[in-house]
Amino acid sequence: MTRTYLSHIFRFAPSPNGYLHLGHAYSALINHEMAQTSGGSLLLRIEDIDIARCRPEFEQAIYEDLRWLGLSWEEPVRRQSEHFDAYAQALTRLEQQGLVYPCFCSRGEVAGVLSAHPDWPRDPDGSPLYPGTCKHLSPSERRARLAAGQPAALRLDMEAGLAAVNARLGQKIGWQEYGSGMQGREVSAEPVLWGDAVLSRKDIPASYHIAVVVDDALQGVTDVVRGEDLFMATGLHRLLQILLELPAPCYHHHELLRDAAGRKLSKSLRAKSLRTLRHEGMTPDEVKAQFGLLRRNFAFVP
Ligand code: GLU
Repeated sequence: MTRTYLSHIFRFAPSPNGYLHLGHAYSALINHEMAQTSGGSLLLRIEDIDIARCRPEFEQAIYEDLRWLGLSWEEPVRRQSEHFDAYAQALTRLEQQGLVYPCFCSRGEVAGVLSAHPDWPRDPDGSPLYPGTCKHLSPSERRARLAAGQPAALRLDMEAGLAAVNARLGQKIGWQEYGSGMQGREVSAEPVLWGDAVLSRKDIPASYHIAVVVDDALQGVTDVVRGEDLFMATGLHRLLQILLELPAPCYHHHELLRDAAGRKLSKSLRAKSLRTLRHEGMTPDEVKAQFGLLRRNFAFVP
């Protein structure tokens, strides 16, 4: 299949819960380069729905670090924390189709399933699949708990979601994954691996999965270029896109930068930040030169 967009729209979507590291620089630079090569545009989206973990100084540092790398993007920047209403609308649409249910369980209760059943299946991120406890509550029990103000997450009823997609399309779902050049390969989506995923948290009225599909559609993103750690999540995103009647972007999941021990660079493992590297004297050209080696197999043709 060949891309037929009149104009490609890419986005880089960091979360301001720490300083950017080389892995982010790599992803941002690929997006920027693809946007330039294709004559398209690059958007910057601040994924800050987790207000407790995100901080204004990290957001300011994102702008500063990206400018230091020589990147530019279209304004305005979309900040997810300003758009909870858009995510609520999408959740309402799913609710109207009977595809979500409130879940009152704590994280501990869900994780507890592993102590009783060590072989319990896990989702691609390693979390135990939701055992369905609250799915089986009676409507009156649900109403009573909600009326009593018990905090609830919203979970996707995966079985119902898959049935709805099957009824609508009558075929398996997938996406176009681009590696090099214009030829995409069709990847088959496996949303079922995520089970009854959380779409709205108890403490935040959204989740990464719902916010990302709503925003990619609202912003007209045609090409989602991000790390391969999000490859499996794309199956769930495709399911949500179909249920919400949103367009399907093309995807390119790039390799991840790893440390000497083979672990992906991450904020939680305290990967050296771009600003530390900058203070140590590294130049933007040196950053880009490192990636030149990694990208030897990658050539984007608009
Ligand atoms: N906000 C995510 C992150 O910082 C990226 C999500 C995406 O590109 O879809 O890892």
